[in-house]
Amino acid sequence: MSDEKHCPRCCTFKALEDFGNNKNTNDGKARYCKPCKREYYNEWAEANPEKVREKSRRYDNANLDKIREYQRKYRESNKQPSSYIRARRVLDRATKNQQSLLKALDPEKMAELKRKLEQMNQR
Ligand SMILES: [Zn+2]
Repeated sequence: MSDEKHCPRCCTFKALEDFGNNKNTNDGKARYCKPCKREYYNEWAEANPEKVREKSRRYDNANLDKIREYQRKYRESNKQPSSYIRARRVLDRATKNQQSLLKALDPEKMAELKRKLEQMNQR
């Protein structure tokens, strides 16, 4: 069956959605099913505690700017008029895909929306 995949770790055929995505494989799906992958990672993490620490440190550093930016925006949004907050929430809720789709569909409207948000932001 094309919508099932064999997991070599638990030797079971499972639905494709039980496998995570992996861009590096032929079928775009992870080699092991999700539970096996978690188990595999936990075993690896147990065997390599220093690597886990190193990994999470790097992750923190990479995300520090994002976190700061988020905190700054959050503080700002608390000072915003409610219409700004509403507009901002709608934008935040839109996924990146939807946003790029909007841009592709109507770049002028998107730019104008952004301009309006920025004007509100300055008030
Ligand atoms: Zn498995």
